[in-house]
Amino acid sequence: MIKLEKPDFQQDIIIDDCIDNMRKGNGTPRARITASRDILIEKSDEYDKLAELGELGTIKESELSEVEVTKKDMIDLYNKKFARQGERGRQYYDKIKSLAPNERCPFCGQRLVKTLDHYLPKAKFPLYAITPYNLIPSCSDCNKDKLTDSFAQREEEIIHPYYDDFASSVWLKAEVVKGEPVTFEFYVEKPEDWDDIKYKRACNHFKVFRLNDLYKPYACERFCECLGRLKRILVKGGQEAAKEHLRESIVEKRKNRLNTWEEAMYDALLESDWFWKEYLKE
Ligand SMILES: [Zn+2]
Repeated sequence: MIKLEKPDFQQDIIIDDCIDNMRKGNGTPRARITASRDILIEKSDEYDKLAELGELGTIKESELSEVEVTKKDMIDLYNKKFARQGERGRQYYDKIKSLAPNERCPFCGQRLVKTLDHYLPKAKFPLYAITPYNLIPSCSDCNKDKLTDSFAQREEEIIHPYYDDFASSVWLKAEVVKGEPVTFEFYVEKPEDWDDIKYKRACNHFKVFRLNDLYKPYACERFCECLGRLKRILVKGGQEAAKEHLRESIVEKRKNRLNTWEEAMYDALLESDWFWKEYLKE
């Protein structure tokens, strides 16, 4: 939903900072991480290249046979050295969190960022547990909704905020549900310049994060707030003036970004014959 600048931290420095105060010695997690350091750096570079090509799906789950480090080592490294307050790795956690403008979660575009989400889940892809490109600022709900899903096919991949551009054409739409109170149903509409895979990915993203359920109540509340104004404009200037007010509201929302529920809701009102001919008769 929201495109983010990808983090520009070096994987080697992150690893070194994270293991800095770990116990030394043969057979320790630190020794295993140090022995696997070059491969972890390689994997991070490879992740970036594959993601740029749209080929993240070619990374196989759990590539642990080629490294000394264990799944537990990597998950502990993330939990105890990268994400934990006061540890040296935490600076990177906080910097990645701050990549989201106005703390808006890039997955839903609505709630506030509270955590980092592993795009490739760390339980299945432990070698990418502290890969900066794999760590996405996220709200708690999106983080939970995504869970440990991995993607069997390209079309199942949710939108990657660092690599995918779903922010330059309008695809989030809504329709007015006739009745009292007026409600809205949100859906994905395929823009002309998208192929089928891109469309299916947007649909899957929309479903995984349950965006219709998220946006509906906000839209219903906003509708109640703007109905009075629309009626006042209608009395003074007629339907065309009321429609012009909605068009201006859409332009204002789009100045910030496309595909907000507000924009989709205003557009749905504009397009609804029922709303203008029956609900809001002149
Ligand atoms: Zn979210």
